[in-house]
Amino acid sequence: THFGFQTVPEDTKESLVKNVFSSVASSYDVMNDAMSLGVHRLWKDEFVGSLKPGAKGPMRCIDLAGGTGDIALRILDYAREKHYDRETSVDVVDINPEMLKEGFKRFKQTMYHNTPQVRFIESNAQDLHKEQFPDNTYDLYTIAFGIRNCTSIPDVLKEAYRVLKPGGTFACLEFSKVENPLFGAIYDQYSFSVIPMLGSILAGDRDSYQYLVESIRKFPSQPDFAQMIADAGFAVGGMHDGKGGAWTNLWNGIACIHKGVKL
Ligand code: SAM
Repeated sequence: THFGFQTVPEDTKESLVKNVFSSVASSYDVMNDAMSLGVHRLWKDEFVGSLKPGAKGPMRCIDLAGGTGDIALRILDYAREKHYDRETSVDVVDINPEMLKEGFKRFKQTMYHNTPQVRFIESNAQDLHKEQFPDNTYDLYTIAFGIRNCTSIPDVLKEAYRVLKPGGTFACLEFSKVENPLFGAIYDQYSFSVIPMLGSILAGDRDSYQYLVESIRKFPSQPDFAQMIADAGFAVGGMHDGKGGAWTNLWNGIACIHKGVKL
């Protein structure tokens, strides 16, 4: 039994996604490690490393679908460790209060707790409140493993464009399409059988993890997503092969980094 997301109406999708992440919030970090054998950490390091936060001075960042704060923590650590920057800040925004609560708990153990460097805000990536998130506010917008859960990707991109300053960067880390067919077949086998099984054994929740696998399947290919980013108004380099910086595959395309710059 799974959610069969292909057939559910879009407004139902939003509440289903909310339930999925409420039910996995407390086990989310452990599950991430188990499912990816820790590899998500390497991808997140590469993602944040490629953005070089703090290299050109303190940045105002927003991390959408920020969940338990994995990306925010890496941004702040990178800026501090590489550039002695304690002024870069991240607004961690997520639609799910349970995920944010886990993130808040985690940041309590860090030096960023109770500083202006981090804030946790509940909001929908597709519809950020204008008073809270005014136009032209951020230097960097990140979204990691989050955009595929949103009902409308164009709405997310439109909001990203709105809140970024001109010259600001949109950066997305997401599961994508594996390029090598043999590797793709092995990966499909792994994701369709092993991940829901791990979900049921480790988190007692097969359906939620089944949903995660299906949402990966449905997400647009690298060039199609690059096109959507360009359609939202961003400058995107090397649209058709990704070589100009539109995207960078990680592990043959299991995951992928897409970037665009607000003109
Ligand atoms: N970025 C974190 C990471 O990489 O570990 C969390 C990723 S988690 C797979 C996806 C997150 O997207 C969940 O925390 C979920 O609540 C959030 N989410 C789903 N739909 C959203 C929306 N429309 N707006 C904001 N966040 C959303």
